Amino acid sequence: MRPSFRVFATCDIGPALDLLRRRGYELEVFPDPKAPPKSLMVEKVRSGVDGLITTLRDQIDAEVFEAGKGTLKVVSQLAVGFDNINRADANRYKVPFTNTAEVLTEATAEFAFFMLGAVARKLWTAEHLTRDNQWGFWHPYLPFLGDEVTGKTIAIIGTGRIGLAMIKKCAGFDMNILCYDPAYQNHEYVKSVQEMMDLRHARGLQKEKTWIKYVSFEEALAQADFVSVHVPLLRPGESDTPTYHLFNEPTLRRMKSSAFLVNTSRGPVVSEAALAKALRENWIAGAALDVYEKEPLPADSPLRDPSIEDRCRLFPHFASAGQITRLSSDPDKGMAGRCVQGLLDVLEGNYGGDPKKMPYVVNKEAF
Ligand code: NAD
Repeated sequence: MRPSFRVFATCDIGPALDLLRRRGYELEVFPDPKAPPKSLMVEKVRSGVDGLITTLRDQIDAEVFEAGKGTLKVVSQLAVGFDNINRADANRYKVPFTNTAEVLTEATAEFAFFMLGAVARKLWTAEHLTRDNQWGFWHPYLPFLGDEVTGKTIAIIGTGRIGLAMIKKCAGFDMNILCYDPAYQNHEYVKSVQEMMDLRHARGLQKEKTWIKYVSFEEALAQADFVSVHVPLLRPGESDTPTYHLFNEPTLRRMKSSAFLVNTSRGPVVSEAALAKALRENWIAGAALDVYEKEPLPADSPLRDPSIEDRCRLFPHFASAGQITRLSSDPDKGMAGRCVQGLLDVLEGNYGGDPKKMPYVVNKEAF
């Protein structure tokens, strides 16, 4: 008989949890849509749960691992980003934690692309014009025009999974592509995209020749019409090339005044005070954000300034929020499925019980 395990989920992640129930696990799900207070989570862990299912809203650090000393075997996070989990603490307590990379890559990239289109072509402002009964006439350029996306140049900041997926979407819109990543450069991928661009041009599918290349951060910012950010949040001390406030006053000033910034990575990668100033003073043409320094976005955020609302699109950390991507129980399709599978792998000792071999364990270095 399979041993039964106790699991606390800080959030209902949907039908994928039935897999645990069917296997006889003792599962407790925090019932509120909001995250539980940390003290409650710590209390649950102290009561001896074997596994903890978390989201990016939960702060997982030494206090949690200490409470689970000797009992907590795995933290399974429903997200690819894990900046809410203190990796050094997890390693010190030798608790593997898992994430849900890959299954959200295409959904996040397509949302980033739609955000880019929304801000450039003024979809929100145009719909308001219609809904608010302000659409008094058809006119060649009044009351405003948008900026085309097709044929423009985009900078992809961070060419990991989502950055590369974004490149595919942009190539389909005949864009030129500047890539920047100090730690991982996929030249094979870039070569394949260039070959595809050349073929599309040769066969008459796109009028202009387009190109893709790796460049420095400075070049990327200076040349791009769009800048799309796809980096993890890395605070100073966590990396030689931290991403905390990567976009600040000096870097925003390097962008073209006609350029747009799109951020689907993590909020603290962009200094919101600097961005609001850049938008107010027209250093850049616009921005579309899915993530914020503080979430949910506070009522007094400078990003809510009505004077910039026509060029500042704001979304509620929504990029991976597709039905299949969020909820599918299939670990190859859904975050929920992958989250549950990551938990099972550790608790049931799959892969010979070696966390190093488990595909969804992040902190393999601890084992
Ligand atoms: P990934 O690890 O595959 O790619 C991240 C890339 O960023 C890596 O290639 C890395 O070398 C690069 N990088 C690191 N530091 C950098 C720097 N200073 N400058 C430029 N590049 C740098 O991760 P991924 O799966 O592509 O996800 C990226 C991030 O997107 C996640 O960490 C998460 O925070 C965020 N995300 C957000 C949503 C959302 O709903 N908005 C959804 C999924 C992921």
